[in-house]
Amino acid sequence: MPAAIEVNHLHKSFARIEAVKDISIKFSEGEIIALLGPNGAGKSTFMNMLSGFLSPDSGKIIILGQDMASNPLQAKSLIGFLPEGSPLYGDMPVRRFLAYMAKLKSSNAPDVDKVISLANLEDVVNQKIETLSKGYKRRVGFASSLLGNPPVLLLDEPTDGLDPNQKNHMLKLISSMSKNKTILISTHLLDEAQSVASRILIMDKGEIKIDGSLDSILKQTRCFSLETAFTKLTKASL
Ligand code: ATP
Repeated sequence: MPAAIEVNHLHKSFARIEAVKDISIKFSEGEIIALLGPNGAGKSTFMNMLSGFLSPDSGKIIILGQDMASNPLQAKSLIGFLPEGSPLYGDMPVRRFLAYMAKLKSSNAPDVDKVISLANLEDVVNQKIETLSKGYKRRVGFASSLLGNPPVLLLDEPTDGLDPNQKNHMLKLISSMSKNKTILISTHLLDEAQSVASRILIMDKGEIKIDGSLDSILKQTRCFSLETAFTKLTKASL
């Protein structure tokens, strides 16, 4: 069985900034991976490349056997992506936006109702996206990433702007979906990473500094908490 996501020697620079430096890594089906790192570590650049949204300078991305460079449509059809920030098309009402995105993904109408319900959007389906609170906008983006039930989910700070109840709801939902999917979540919240992820990556200055379960990270760093391990591995970025 191929890895769900396979990345070989991925590299991306912006002018003189090396945002992602020669990353090679594999993720399997059923894994929830939390991607941690200080501001500017390269998390969004990495996720944007995995989603096919941004082209790497060099390196390969293979999604369930489909090469992102040579088979971009097939590879992208396997991915649900929640980028940083708000969804596009702010002047569209929620349901119309999701129906439009479903069409782009060749998904169908029952699927739109399903993601509206999963993301708890029933109360705002006819409201324009630009008039929603930050948390609701995030949930519209999340709902959009679930359209077509893709086997790979890339979620860039999915709980940003959510109140504690909504945050718990989303994390539970993500956990419940992990069985047949591979879910990569970027977050600044260490407790969130510990509660939802089976594997944690800490990134700094474009490199993955450590990769493993919470227990293995604590052992490798000889720390008693993820917070101290994080500080130890990324201190130079302060
Ligand atoms: P944050 O946690 O603040 O969202 P991040 O870990 O997601 O940060 P990136 O947004 O990937 O980090 O940025 C990595 C580096 O690349 C930063 O130095 C950033 O300024 C730079 N960078 C990212 N995108 C661009 C761009 N389009 N043009 C120029 N520099 C960029």
